[in-house]
Amino acid sequence: MSRYDPDCIFCKIAAGHIPAKLVYKNEHVVAFHDVNPVAPVHVLIIPLEHIPSLSHLTPDDTGIAANILLAARMVAEKTGVLDSGYRVVFNNGPDSLQSVGHIHAHLLGGKTMGWPPFPGREVLHGQD
Ligand code: AMP
Repeated sequence: MSRYDPDCIFCKIAAGHIPAKLVYKNEHVVAFHDVNPVAPVHVLIIPLEHIPSLSHLTPDDTGIAANILLAARMVAEKTGVLDSGYRVVFNNGPDSLQSVGHIHAHLLGGKTMGWPPFPGREVLHGQD
């Protein structure tokens, strides 16, 4: 692993230093259940390497970006939402309410969702 931030909680999960409910792992990414799910299926997919956000991806990260998306399909299959449908969301930056600075895809499914996702009730982390 060439990029690791010792202060990053998702780096610690990727390294196995703190526990998570793993759904899928390979040599590029790890997927685990969100600790605060907002849908019946809510899984986070992260690269093992520390990249702060979508905005920090460079052409050198093409493989990492592809592996996140390919893992999303695997996770959808493993969680039983491949056919019923699912949404993949990357929160990126303050307006999106990104709260963890390690790029991650949210895979959401298991219920019919609304579109567009805004305007609506504002949801702040840790508040109802
Ligand atoms: P975001 O707001 O897009 O940065 O999403 C971060 C997500 O990480 C939130 O949905 C949190 O519930 C989730 N989260 C934070 N810490 C953990 C953890 N230790 N294990 C699983 N999910 C976590």
